[in-house]
This record gives sequence, structure tokens and C-alpha cells, in this order.
Amino acid sequence: MSGLNINAITKKFGSFAAVDNVQLNVPHGTFVCLLGPSGCGKTTLLRMIAGLEEPTSGAIVLDGEDITPLPTHKRNLGMVFQSLALFPHLSVGDNIAYALRIRGASQGDQKKRVDELLSLIHLPGFADRPVAKLSGGQRQRVAIARALALSPKLFLLDEPLSALDAKLREAMQVELRQLQQRLGITTIVVTHDQREAMTMADLVVVMGHGKILQAAPPIEIYRKPADAFVADFIGITNLLPAEIDGAGRTTILGTAIPGLAMPAGQTKASVSIRPEDVHLGAPGGSAITGEVSFVRDLGGTIETFVEVRGTSIIAVTTPRERHDVPVGAKVGVTLPPESCVVLGS
Ligand code: ATP
Repeated sequence: MSGLNINAITKKFGSFAAVDNVQLNVPHGTFVCLLGPSGCGKTTLLRMIAGLEEPTSGAIVLDGEDITPLPTHKRNLGMVFQSLALFPHLSVGDNIAYALRIRGASQGDQKKRVDELLSLIHLPGFADRPVAKLSGGQRQRVAIARALALSPKLFLLDEPLSALDAKLREAMQVELRQLQQRLGITTIVVTHDQREAMTMADLVVVMGHGKILQAAPPIEIYRKPADAFVADFIGITNLLPAEIDGAGRTTILGTAIPGLAMPAGQTKASVSIRPEDVHLGAPGGSAITGEVSFVRDLGGTIETFVEVRGTSIIAVTTPRERHDVPVGAKVGVTLPPESCVVLGS
């Protein structure tokens, strides 16, 4: 099979499983983001793929070859870490050419490849600059070029953008994604930033406690989270209690939601609904009645918090669809059943 195959990988530190029987197929050319809270095992999984950590059990297969026994330098991969680890005393060109030089490439071949890579990272003519004089974003790009110098099959990055300020970081996310698409290289990035994962990934892998909780395209993770942990981790969501009432109807906070089905045999569940799917209108009819407790106007969007029986429901609207709902106003909240994801209790 072309691509990366992570086959029942486990890593134990003593009796603690940092990565617990993880199974993942990554087709060739896919951009994967490993996403999850601190300590969930992302870095340990990446380090096993890189050959920096030996799995307790399982195998890592790249393009049909079992690379588990191979040392890092024989795995044909490029790596970038948060620290970047550029050589501060070397020029940009010498940093990028480092692996080529070690492999005995001629001066001419080194220069040609360095020039190619510098144009790829939008820093043509930078070969002779000292690394110490570069900006944060420029260093980031040089670290990426250095990792790609040997045209690896697999590109691994651990929190590569976390040292950058928010604006530069967002720009670099787009740049990294565009670069990966141009090269078509299978890429795995560790991040704990869900926006970063949504921006860059073909496949988002959400981890918790050493296990994969969900692996799917970003929009699917957002729209159809597998459980409450994933729903909560991926963006703001409303997690609301649903139950079956005496008449057999599904209710949320005491109001029947026609068209919302509970899993067979279940009388209680959590329902996730994104704030942009919540509709606000006049109270009455089949809507849930609540009271506006807080309004946050962010310019492009408006978040309205509605209290219903001690629970807050957040609705996000744009200024164009704005309703006049001051704090204290009574409103009707409509939860379209097709936007509700029943998560189980
Ligand atoms: P972060 O985002 O904070 O880097 P992470 O998801 O990358 O977290 P890991 O670094 O993979 O998490 O760590 C997973 C768990 O394994 C943590 O509980 C960590 O303390 C533990 N762990 C990692 N390396 C070792 C080690 N060498 N010895 C013992 N425990 C370890």
C-alpha cells in the first residue's frame, strides 16, 4: 500500500500506555494533523514514526515496507521540531545543504538544490545570509527547507509554528499547506490548536489518553464529532442534555424537538449543536424559551448567550441577521434537528 500504515502501535512507559493500540492508515500525499490536549500521546506517536522512540508493540509501514526496525536516518523522512534546531553559526544555504553535504553531494548539486528550495520557500537569494539575522517566520521556512533537502517520503513536524505570534502563525499555516500540496508529500503535524488543524489538514486525528477518538476530514469532525470530548475540543459547541419524556418525545431542556431521534433503547443523551446552527426568534410556538444573559459583539459575528433552566445556549449570528435581543429579553431558541448530533450519555 502506498502511504503510511500505523499498525496497532503501543508505547508504554512502565505500566502507563502513552500510546494505546493506535491504528491509522494515511494515504500517500495526505496532510494529517494529530490533535489533542497536552499529554494525550501526540508527540510519542510522532516520535515512534520518526524512529526516535521504540514502540512496545505494533509496526510502522511506509509504502509497503516495515520501517519499525530502521534507525531514523534510514527512514527517508524530514523533521521539523518546535525548537527548529538550526545551526546558528552557519548560513541559510549551509543549513539547508547540511544533509546533502554529509551524503557527499558535489558543491554544484548542493547549490542547485539549495536554490530550488529557497525559491520553494519564497526566500530566493538568501543562501549567504547568517541564520542569526533572520526573522522568526524566515527561520521557520529555512527549517522546513532543510528538512526537505533530501526529498523525503514523509514529512514530520512537532508543533512547528507554536513559537510564532498569532498573525505570522496563521500566515505560515497557509504557506505550509500550500507547500505540501505543491510537493504532494505525506505530512504529519502535531498540534494542540484546533484552528491550525482545520486550516491545514486533509485528515484530523483527535487523540485522548493515548487513543484515537476520531480520524476524519476536518469538516466532518466539526459537523459530526464522535463524542462529547471531540465536540468540545473542536471549536465552541453547545452540549445540551436530551431525554425522552412521558409521551415518548425527545426533549431538550423540557421542550420537545420534533424530528430529533434518540439512539434505540436510550432515554438520555448529550446533544452537540454548533452556535451558528442555533436560531433565535420570538418566544412561543415550538421554540425553547430562554432569557438573554450576555451578548458579545465581535464585529464580524455576534454571540448571544441564552439561559434556559440554568443552562447557557450560545447562538452565533452575523450583524446582517442580527435580532434586537438585549440582555434580559425573552427569546425563542430553535434547534434544527438536522444540526443536532446525539452523542450518547
Ligand atoms: P504535549 O502537547 O504536552 O507535548 P503530547 O500529547 O505530545 O503532549 P506526549 O509527549 O506524547 O503527549 O506524552 C504522553 C504521555 O506520556 C504524557 O503523560 C507524558 O508524561 C508521558 N511520557 C512521554 N514521554 C515519557 C517518558 N520518556 N517517560 C515517561 N513518560 C513519558
